[in-house]
Amino acid sequence: MNEGKNETNGRTAEETVVSRTTLFVQHAIVNLCRLVVAVTFIVSGFVKAIDPLGTQYKIEDYAAAVGIMQPAGSLATLGLSVALSAVEFSLGVLLLFAIHRRVVSRITAVFMAIMTIITLWLWIAEPVKDCGCFGDAIHISNAQTLMKNIVLLASAVIVAWRPLQMVRFISRSNQWIVINYTVLFIVGVSIYCLYMLPLFDFRPYHIGADIKKGMEMPPGEKGPEFETTFIMEKDGERREFSLDNYPDSTWTFIDSKTVQVSEGYVPPIHDFSVVMQPDGVDVTEDLLANKDYTFLLVSPQLEKADDSNFGDIDRIYEYATGNGMNFIGLTASSDEAISRWRDITGAEYDFGITDGTTLKTMIRSNPGLFLLKEGRVIGKWSHNDLPDPASQEFKALIKNGIDNGNFDTAKKVVKVVIWFVIPLFLLTLADRLWAWSSIVRNTRKKNKLYKLLKKKKMRKKIVAGNWKMNLNLQEGVALAKELNEALTAEKPNCDVIICTPFIHLASVAQAIDQNVLALGAENCADKEKGAYTGEVSAEMVKSTGAQYVIIGHSERRSYYAETPEILKEKVLLALKNGLKVIFCIGESLEEREANKQNEVVKAELEGSVFNLSEEDFRKIIIAYEPIWAIGTGKTATSDQAEEIHAYIRSIIAEKYGKAVAEDTSILYGGSCKASNAPELFAKPDIDGGLIGGAALKAADFRGIIDAWK
Ligand code: PEP
Repeated sequence: MNEGKNETNGRTAEETVVSRTTLFVQHAIVNLCRLVVAVTFIVSGFVKAIDPLGTQYKIEDYAAAVGIMQPAGSLATLGLSVALSAVEFSLGVLLLFAIHRRVVSRITAVFMAIMTIITLWLWIAEPVKDCGCFGDAIHISNAQTLMKNIVLLASAVIVAWRPLQMVRFISRSNQWIVINYTVLFIVGVSIYCLYMLPLFDFRPYHIGADIKKGMEMPPGEKGPEFETTFIMEKDGERREFSLDNYPDSTWTFIDSKTVQVSEGYVPPIHDFSVVMQPDGVDVTEDLLANKDYTFLLVSPQLEKADDSNFGDIDRIYEYATGNGMNFIGLTASSDEAISRWRDITGAEYDFGITDGTTLKTMIRSNPGLFLLKEGRVIGKWSHNDLPDPASQEFKALIKNGIDNGNFDTAKKVVKVVIWFVIPLFLLTLADRLWAWSSIVRNTRKKNKLYKLLKKKKMRKKIVAGNWKMNLNLQEGVALAKELNEALTAEKPNCDVIICTPFIHLASVAQAIDQNVLALGAENCADKEKGAYTGEVSAEMVKSTGAQYVIIGHSERRSYYAETPEILKEKVLLALKNGLKVIFCIGESLEEREANKQNEVVKAELEGSVFNLSEEDFRKIIIAYEPIWAIGTGKTATSDQAEEIHAYIRSIIAEKYGKAVAEDTSILYGGSCKASNAPELFAKPDIDGGLIGGAALKAADFRGIIDAWK
């Protein structure tokens, strides 16, 4: 005996407290990391999804930096933009709700590993200045991005290391609703923002922005500094000069290069200018100072602009000219593209040239409509959502000079809350209430008085695994630990036992908490002790910390010629040493075909356990295992199994009385899997399973245990 050790699992009370504390700390760390990753993914996925074109431009910047020649504005990069934001946002939500914990946490860790490698490259090579992780909402430097990703990667790895410690917010049966709703929502948001405009505008040209102010240099700030070097040649000699020591005309200019030598302050708007076509007059200042309204039809690439709404555009142009307002088209495209547009749409308005990137930043629509007054952005519309000049809303906008709510940020936040947060919150609430009410129901069922009144059956629900001669010591201990962790993280609705080869017992006993996962042997000797080379006694089994032993398995009966008499001895010795017995019975195929199953199981019980006192018999768990179903993939149907289980209970009742029979757990064994366990366990006389093959993988075994939920 291990003095000072807890009888059941071989640990001291102190060790148990330490392992519980460790588990608690692990839980706290895993859940904190999971929240950090989940919230970051949700935010970064969402800000990308509301601006699919912005994300697409960023992807194209990356593609250009690595020399992948993607035609600008291609469908592939747009698809990637929508997919990337959807994956990021959905992973965040699934992590937050702890849905499919293993697979989601692994995918997240892999995703973060890839992102961290990319940002390491960004930091070293600086192919783009801003990684675009948070769209235009938050700009961080490449070094900051790398730091952020290292923290996220570490958190994701911790979560993937102990995924089952993530606390669930929603039961498994309702997870599919969250998954589908999240994916539909985020893809829907992307499509909506693509058709209209980004739901939230984080760019310097948002409604209400003053473009003149955005271009100002705050007092005391210095702009970035550049240095130009000139490569010149004279008499076959090449030298580099700067502006300060520029040589005389005897030197011939070969090349020049300009490098930025200091960062400096760059105003949010630094490249807004309008040069009218075809006369080349720069009207930027006049345009920004104009006290009247100016409509700008913005099209970064006129040759790719959608011309389907030109009727609406013309209506606004007519409204503008009729009311003494300006209307200018702005593009970065060539004169040919402008004349083509004029031919197609009959446009009469003038065009000005502005930098393409500036135009893409101004509005995420090609074309899109901008309304300016004294350099302030009064309104912005996608070509799919152009305003009707006759509408009250538009008239109010023109009258007041401010947007009257169409772009009100608070309203949009409320919309997102109504469409996404509230439905999921209500679902979670309903799910938790349901879970809570089932706990109340189960607690009531467990209440003794209730049981007495209701005469409910008291016997235990059990799922026991029989590892047979599989798994080496290291594999066995790893499996036991994995199961222990999973069952600690989420309590099962039944007792769970693993019966392992002898050599695993002592190590597994140290690795598990038997209040969560009990341990048993697969056999024990029919002799107490002595010169029986190779045998392991019941006392030895007990000394490892094991509490159970399987006796009478059909493989022992047939391959090792264990007779009813031998089994009777084993049962007596096991009970004498404080072990609980899982006693196996069951007929062969020939016996079943000859309809002798009842006779067979009765004889097996009478031969080995019906000699016991009532007190001892109460320590026996019966496992009915039709030999033709063991390891064959053939399962007794639930009705076949129920019929014989009921018969076994009836003969126990005959022998020991109804109360004992009602309290005896009778397990079914034989190709029991997660897929058939719920049907089998739903039968009134089937109290669980003795599982062979499916006990060798934690997920398979867990699936069977969960059949009791
Ligand atoms: C067993 O041998 O106890 C058993 C039920 O095996 P399997 O589940 O693999 O049929």
